[in-house]
Amino acid sequence: MKALLCFVAFFACVSAHADKITIVAAENFYGGVAAQIAGNEATVTSILSNPNQDPHEFTTDAATAKAVADADIVIYNGLGYDDWMAKLLGTAGKKDRVVIRVADLIGAKDGDNPHIWYDPRTMPTLAAKLGDAIFMTGFSATYRAAAGANPFAQKINDFDASMKPELDEIAAIKSKYSGTIVTATEPVFGYMSGALGFKMLNYDFQINIMNDTEPSASQTAAFEKSLNPKTVRLLFYNKQVTDPTTERLKKIAITSDVPIVGVTETQPADAKTYQDWMMHELHAVETALAQPAGAFPGDSVPVPVQRTENVNVQTTPNQ
Ligand SMILES: [Zn+2]
Repeated sequence: MKALLCFVAFFACVSAHADKITIVAAENFYGGVAAQIAGNEATVTSILSNPNQDPHEFTTDAATAKAVADADIVIYNGLGYDDWMAKLLGTAGKKDRVVIRVADLIGAKDGDNPHIWYDPRTMPTLAAKLGDAIFMTGFSATYRAAAGANPFAQKINDFDASMKPELDEIAAIKSKYSGTIVTATEPVFGYMSGALGFKMLNYDFQINIMNDTEPSASQTAAFEKSLNPKTVRLLFYNKQVTDPTTERLKKIAITSDVPIVGVTETQPADAKTYQDWMMHELHAVETALAQPAGAFPGDSVPVPVQRTENVNVQTTPNQ
């Protein structure tokens, strides 16, 4: 509590620091974390925020270019996920602009699954980096010297504490269901699946869907064959990256009684925070796994997850 009071007093008592800084995030989940750390010290703009749009297909416009040019801090994913941002950063920007490529923070390499925000280690690392970046960018050297320690340390601690329910939930699912065999239409949930101890099938197929490339006939045949309750316990369905092939696989999963967990790339509007979003998806996983294998989504099985859009367990009855 003492540390929190010092933090509040620090901003209240010392007014001679720079104007609000501007943070632009390529994706809204990074922008959301930036807002949690920056509080009133920054204005945060997120470019990709529509959970109904395929982010792999995004193209920029003049407004996006201007936002990036005017930013003090820019956050983007890297790994080919948002090459449009890398291109915009090649043009002139503000002096002393800080660019945070999240892939660099966790040592991800080109060719790795780009959906690194689903790795539970990523956001705490970003939060720590942002605490430093905001303090260095938004406050003069004189002000920083007077402050001594970085006052954003408390915000970083608060963020880490707020991740605990998610980490506890991951540990709980893992202890019960580690080794469970699952599959997915697209690799968005891959890192979380790994954190849960699941074994993921059909990864090559998923990469092709991500890249908007038609999977090979043998990849599709293998996927269809795997869609039975004796082989996989869950299908993760990326609702943002769909095509006729993924739609067909979804129908096969439904008729084969393989539970479907809907997931998204972009943080949905009804999730207040990244932490909230992840918890909803993890609860959907837990709910689906609590059903006996092959008994879902049959008519007699109650589905306790009440969410009706964005992140939910597929509840379409068996036709
Ligand atoms: Zn994706």
